[in-house]
Amino acid sequence: MRLFFALWPPRQAAAALHVWANEASREAHGRVTRAETIHLTLAFLGEVDEEALPSVIGAGRGTGGKAHTLPIEQARWWKHNRIVWAGPNETPAPLASLAVELKRNLLEAGFELETRPFAAHVTLIRKACEPRGLPPLPAIDWPAAEFVLVRSVPSREGSSYETIGRFALDQK
Ligand code: ATP
Ligand code: MG
Repeated sequence: MRLFFALWPPRQAAAALHVWANEASREAHGRVTRAETIHLTLAFLGEVDEEALPSVIGAGRGTGGKAHTLPIEQARWWKHNRIVWAGPNETPAPLASLAVELKRNLLEAGFELETRPFAAHVTLIRKACEPRGLPPLPAIDWPAAEFVLVRSVPSREGSSYETIGRFALDQK
């Protein structure tokens, strides 16, 4: 199974980001992320044996984190992977801690993870050309009260996702 941990936006936030991405794609072209697949990746596991699933879930359960909100303050184009993304100007401290602790628990459980530092971003357009400009972002309300474990199933129109675990974040 191809697995990753993520923050998922509320439906309204996803809808607003999708509308923005459609608008931005007039400049950037590329493939706009469908509203229902918009997310922020916390840790990407890649291919994992089904027998290892309990230990993945254990690492999620063993990760404590604080509820926070994810500010969507900037939108950028990255040349190296040709995506347009949106995200915070600076990673909120509770989000950085969450990503670090989750990765540490997954490493301790024996999973291999990428070593690049966590970069909080929400991919909104893939295979994008460098845009001359991007439209202003709408106000987005994205409370992060839980994180999720997701199975990615590749398909022709872009991967589809199935949530297989939910992990609450502490409210205070
Ligand atoms: P598609 O590959 O069909 O365009 P996708 O990239 O969203 O869609 P996956 O490749 O399954 O689907 O990736 C799931 C999530 O994990 C995405 O947020 C993706 O950016 C991230 N991801 C994928 N591969 C890696 C990787 N090697 N390292 C870090 N994150 C990754
Ligand atoms: Mg991919």
